[in-house]
Amino acid sequence: MDKYDVIIIGAGPGGMAASLYTVRANLKTLMLEKAAPGGKMMSTWEVENYPGLGKVTGFEISEKMFNHTQELGVEYKYGDVSGIIDKGDIKEVHTSGGDVYETKAVIIGSGTTPRGTNAPGESKLSGRGVSWCAICDGAFFNDKDVVVVGGGNSAIEEATYLSKMVNHITVVNVLDTLQADKKAIDEANATGKMDYKLGYEIVSFDGEKQLESVTIRNVKTQEVEKLEVEGAFVFIGHIPETKFLEGLEITNQWGYIEVNSKMETKIPGIYGIGDVIEKELRQIATAVGDGTIAAVNVSKYIESISHK
Ligand SMILES: Cc1cc2nc3c(=O)[nH]c(=O)nc-3n(C[C@H](O)[C@H](O)[C@H](O)COP(=O)(O)OP(=O)(O)OC[C@H]3O[C@@H](n4cnc5c(N)ncnc54)[C@H](O)[C@@H]3O)c2cc1C
Repeated sequence: MDKYDVIIIGAGPGGMAASLYTVRANLKTLMLEKAAPGGKMMSTWEVENYPGLGKVTGFEISEKMFNHTQELGVEYKYGDVSGIIDKGDIKEVHTSGGDVYETKAVIIGSGTTPRGTNAPGESKLSGRGVSWCAICDGAFFNDKDVVVVGGGNSAIEEATYLSKMVNHITVVNVLDTLQADKKAIDEANATGKMDYKLGYEIVSFDGEKQLESVTIRNVKTQEVEKLEVEGAFVFIGHIPETKFLEGLEITNQWGYIEVNSKMETKIPGIYGIGDVIEKELRQIATAVGDGTIAAVNVSKYIESISHK
C-alpha cells in the first residue's frame, strides 16, 4: 500500500494551494482528483477578482495553479475517493477504482456540485438542452434562445457570458428580485439580450429528445407560461461533495464539513477546506486561504504525532 504524509482530496484552488505548502514543508503529498485539476474554476468563464492575475479565463487560472503544483513536485493522481477510514494516527483513503492509500493526514477540498431544480424533464433532458455549465455548453446554442435559472452572481455572470453567443436570454428567478450585485446586473443589462421573469418557478423542462420549451409559473398568481427555448442553464446553488464521508460524522445537517479556525474537523488529522466546509463566502481566494491554513496545521499535527 502506498504511504503518504498527507493526501489532498480535490484539485480545486483550495486543494492546490494546500499542496504547495505541504510539499514545501517536505511532507510526502498526494493530490487525488476525480475530474480535471482546477475544480469549479474550470467551468467558470472569467475570473477578475483573484489578486495579481487581472482578468483571466477559468481555464488559464486552473492551468497556472496546476503548473505551479507540478513545478514544486506535488504528486497528482486520478482518483474518485469513495471513503476514508480513520485508524487513529493512520488514515486509509479508498477510491472507487479499488486503490487504497495510507496517510497520516487528509485534507478534504472536494467542493460542491450544482443543484438541480428537480422539475420534471430536467434529468431526462440533461445534456440535451439542459445544462449547468455555460462555458462547457454555451457554444451549442449559437443564435438560439435560452433560459437561465437563478438570480445570484453565478446566474447573472453566466448569462452575460452566454450573451456572447446566444440570441436571447430569459432569466427566471423564483424570488421577485435578483440577488446578484449591481455590477453583474449592469453588465448583463448592457448586453441588450436579457429579459427577466422574476417571481417565477420552473414547472417543467419540455421535449422528447431535445429541450423544446420551459414551462414556468408565477408564484403569486399561479399563471403558467411556456417559453420556447432550446437551452436552459441552471445556476441555483450547490450541494457539498461529502457522500464519501458518511460514517465519519464530520458534516452538518446540510452535508458541509464542520471545521474550526485551523480547518480541523473533530477527527485529529482530518481537515476540511474551501467550498465544502460550512462558511460564509465561497470564492477562489477564500478556498486558497483555507488550504494554506490547513496545510500549515497539518505540518504541526504530523510533527506532534511523530513525537508520540
Ligand atoms: C459559475 C461559477 C463562477 C464562479 N466565479 C468565481 C469568480 O469569478 N471568482 C471567485 O473567486 N470564485 C468564483 N466562483 C467560486 C469558485 O469557483 C469556488 O469558490 C472555488 O472553486 C472553490 O474551490 P474548492 O477548491 O473549494 O473546490 P472546487 O473548485 O469545487 O474543487 C473541488 C474539486 O474536488 C474534486 N472532487 C470532488 N469530490 C471528489 C472525490 N470524491 N474524489 C476526488 N476528487 C473529488 C472535484 O472534481 C473538484 O475538482 C465561481 C463558481 C461558479 C460555479
